[in-house]
Amino acid sequence: MLCAVFVCLSSVVVSAVIADWLICGKCGYENDADGKFCSHCGESLAGAQEISAEQTSEPVPDVISEVAKPEAPLSIEPGVIEAELQEVSEFLKKRNGWVAKLFCENAMALNMLAEDGEQRWERVLKLLSDCEKAVRRTGKACPDCGGTGRLGRKMDSVTTSGTTVEMTLPDAACPRCRGSGRMVGVNALSVIKEQRNAAVKDYALLRTSRRWVSVGRAWVPPEYDRKLGIRQTCILKRTTGAMCEACLGLGRSGCTACNGTGAVKCDEEGCEDGIIVKQVAGLGGDGDQAWRKEHVMRSKCPACGGKGLQACPDCVGRASVACETCGGTGMRVICRKCDGQGFATCRKCAGSGRYRDRECASCRGEGVAICSTCLGDGRATDKKRN
Ligand SMILES: [Zn+2]
Ligand SMILES: [Zn+2]
Ligand SMILES: [Zn+2]
Ligand SMILES: [Zn+2]
Ligand SMILES: [Zn+2]
Ligand SMILES: [Zn+2]
Ligand SMILES: [Zn+2]
Ligand SMILES: [Zn+2]
Repeated sequence: MLCAVFVCLSSVVVSAVIADWLICGKCGYENDADGKFCSHCGESLAGAQEISAEQTSEPVPDVISEVAKPEAPLSIEPGVIEAELQEVSEFLKKRNGWVAKLFCENAMALNMLAEDGEQRWERVLKLLSDCEKAVRRTGKACPDCGGTGRLGRKMDSVTTSGTTVEMTLPDAACPRCRGSGRMVGVNALSVIKEQRNAAVKDYALLRTSRRWVSVGRAWVPPEYDRKLGIRQTCILKRTTGAMCEACLGLGRSGCTACNGTGAVKCDEEGCEDGIIVKQVAGLGGDGDQAWRKEHVMRSKCPACGGKGLQACPDCVGRASVACETCGGTGMRVICRKCDGQGFATCRKCAGSGRYRDRECASCRGEGVAICSTCLGDGRATDKKRN
C-alpha cells in the first residue's frame, strides 16, 4: 500500500512517491495504478476510481526541517483472524448465514491489517462467498417431496393406440428439487432485512460480551483499542462500511413475482402442471364412465416441455433482481471528497506530519485526517429511498 505520503521532504518528491493508485471497488484495497486486477481479491479494476497525486494532496511546503517518522503501524496478530474465521465456519454450520457473514467481513477487514494477510486472502474470500450464498438462499423444504428429495417420478409413455399416458416410477429423485430436498429459491428483500436485523443484534451482543471495540462497523479486540492509525481505521471502516443500504450489500434480492424461484406457472392454454388434458368425446358413445376415462387424452405441453413452469418474465428466470439503488454492486458510490480513501490530507500540517518543528498534534504525525464527509468509510451516503 502507498502510505509513504507523509515522510516526504518536498513537493517534488511527493509527486514522485505518490504514484497514482486504484481503490478496488469490491474490497477497498489500494492497488498500484498499473494493475488490471485487485491484488487482494482479484476483482477487475477496470471501473475503479483512479486516485492521482493532484487530486488528493494539497501543496506541501518545500522545506520541512525534520522527517516525520510515525511508529510502524500496529498489525493484527494472525491468531485473532484465524479465530474469526473459525467463527465464520461454525455459524455457517449452524445455518446462520448472516452472523457468519458479519464475522467474515470483519475477518476480511482485520486481515488487511495483518502482516501475513496475503496468504489468507483466498480463504477469506471463499468463505465470504459461502456466506453470501447462505444469506440469499431460502433453504425451504421442497413442497413436492417434503424435503426428502425422493419421489415417485412421472413419466410419459405412449400406448399402442398412440395416446400419451402418464406413468409414475416409484422412488426416484424428486424432479423439483433435483433430489436435494431443498428449494434453491432466493429470499425476498423483506425476509433478508428481517434476518439481518436479528443477526446484527446477536452479533453486536457477542462482540460486546467479549469486550471487543467497534471501529465503524468493524470490531477489534480490546488490546487494539485506540492503537490504530488513521489509515488503519479507514481500512477497517472501508471494508465493513461500503454496503448499499437498500439491498444490504447483496446487490441482488429475490424476485417477488416468482417468489425467488425464477419460474412461474406455464401460461399455455390448458396446461396443468405441464400436461394438457383433452376430453375425447363421442368415442364408444354408450355413456359408460369407466370406458370414457380411458379416452381422456393427456399430452405433454409443448410450451413448457411438460415442466408446467416457464421462466419468470420479471427476472428473466434469474430468480433475483438487481438492486435499483446500487445497480447490483452492493456498494454505495465512492465519496468524492476523499476519492474513496476515507481520509484526506491533514490541513494543519499539509500532510507533512510536522507542525512548527513538532509532531502535528492534529494528526499525530500521520499527515492525514478522517474525511469529514464520509467519516472514514470512503462511500457517499445513499439518497434515502424509503
Ligand atoms: Zn495505504
Ligand atoms: Zn479487491
Ligand atoms: Zn423435492
Ligand atoms: Zn422472477
Ligand atoms: Zn405448459
Ligand atoms: Zn444495492
Ligand atoms: Zn497533521
Ligand atoms: Zn470521504
